[in-house]
Amino acid sequence: MAYVITEACTKDAFCIDACPVDCIHPKKDEPGYEEAKQLWVDPVECVDCGACVPVCPATAIFVLDDVPAENQASVQANAAYFGR
Ligand code: SF4
Ligand code: SF4
Repeated sequence: MAYVITEACTKDAFCIDACPVDCIHPKKDEPGYEEAKQLWVDPVECVDCGACVPVCPATAIFVLDDVPAENQASVQANAAYFGR
């Protein structure tokens, strides 16, 4: 299981600072950041710690089983960003 960032993300990057395994991208200094509509979690690298959830002011991050029905497309979108 992994955590998923949904379309409510505002790219403020609080979750990047909270993540212990650096699995949220793109960062501001990485290619594609400007074009990205949101940030994404690498579903393979995520260790399911949940540290990103409480720091997200947009309530945009959900554990896989709790992703709202209207945000199910985000599950594949997060994985696809990393070629998973
Ligand atoms: S903390 Fe939330 S709103 Fe901010 S970048 Fe991360 S997922 Fe997006
Ligand atoms: S659950 Fe933990 S490892 Fe996964 S993206 Fe959030 S902070 Fe990173």
